[in-house]
Amino acid sequence: MHILIVEDEPKTGDYLHKGLRESGFTADLARTGPDGLHLALENEYDLVVLDVMLPKLDGWTVLQKLRERKQTPVLFLTARDEIPDRVRGLELGADDYLVKPFAFAELLARIRTLLRRAPAREPDVLKVADLEIDVLRHRVSRAGARIELTPKEYALLQLLARRQGEVLSRSLISSQVWDMNFDSDTNVVDVAVKRLRAKVDDPYPNKLIHTVRGMGYLLEERA
Ligand code: CA
Repeated sequence: MHILIVEDEPKTGDYLHKGLRESGFTADLARTGPDGLHLALENEYDLVVLDVMLPKLDGWTVLQKLRERKQTPVLFLTARDEIPDRVRGLELGADDYLVKPFAFAELLARIRTLLRRAPAREPDVLKVADLEIDVLRHRVSRAGARIELTPKEYALLQLLARRQGEVLSRSLISSQVWDMNFDSDTNVVDVAVKRLRAKVDDPYPNKLIHTVRGMGYLLEERA
């Protein structure tokens, strides 16, 4: 398990760095916001321990910029136990927070809980036959040729690819892709699938998106 600590206070940073390594983790230490953000974006950490009050770039901003690209779990360290601070951190996408000063044992317990809760990381590139979906860059290509999709078409394709081989009902698709229920009008899903097929399947002999009559759609390679 690889943990990044972003903490400017030299003593606290060194203490956390040493403590986590002694507890069996691999740990990196960044002492400024920009360094922390850079490391968090460049490397694959299982967790980031992020201090709020940091020079140059504060913890809020680091978290905000990190969340634009990654869902790495973040444990916030705040100096003040104030509701607005906690709410702000959680709204920005922090997974948990700890108020300074704290006992190392408590930090360790929270870290272990967060690591257990973290979902298995999905691969950066989803592949079905010659179709490739780069989930970090939101890029899709087939047989090496780039395919331009609208955000909804992309969301639909990613959902189908994540659950490839599984029949997804129209109502499940509409709730996941549009975040609402179109029970009364699942035609929206059919139209979107048609548009997606035009880009992803029509130009290629090997069709990947399949209709299961009365049930829904699935994405899979069929020989
Ligand atoms: Ca600080």
